[in-house]
Amino acid sequence: MTRRSFVAAALAFAGCARAGGVAPALKGNAAPGLTTEAASPATVTPITLTDAEWKKLLNPTAYHILREEGTERAYSGAHWDNHAEGVYVCAGCGLQLWSSADKFDSGTGWPSFTRPIRAEHVRVNLDSSYGMVREEAECARCGGHQGHVFDDGPKPTGRRWCINSEATVFVKRA
Ligand SMILES: [Zn+2]
Repeated sequence: MTRRSFVAAALAFAGCARAGGVAPALKGNAAPGLTTEAASPATVTPITLTDAEWKKLLNPTAYHILREEGTERAYSGAHWDNHAEGVYVCAGCGLQLWSSADKFDSGTGWPSFTRPIRAEHVRVNLDSSYGMVREEAECARCGGHQGHVFDDGPKPTGRRWCINSEATVFVKRA
């Protein structure tokens, strides 16, 4: 990363203040209690809303991360140090995306996972912003930005899915 792009990235990150309470856009889809992989669908039907509709449904932080590919500041989110058992659903549409069973302490200040709860639930795109080529992870149902994925993760996958806390809502295992 060049110094210039680093400064740009740092400024962008510093600009995302944490806001309290993420409001899931479609609360009925969060399905609290359905916390097993088997309970989540293999086939995902895309949800398409306009920017204006998303703006109404999401708090400003969640909107910035999910719809503008923003990044919360390290150690600022609600879930980086969460060790409770449960699933993390998309803050935009409630689709189950991440499981505590795959979470690990990466030391980065962002919730980190070795894999999505189901491969079908997360889409990966190439992102060349900030002078870097990275793999961007987004919800397969609503297209909400989740974070980025890197190849320096632990076993068993070697992948590090670096996710914004505020792009998810944690549903504790009952
Ligand atoms: Zn979603």
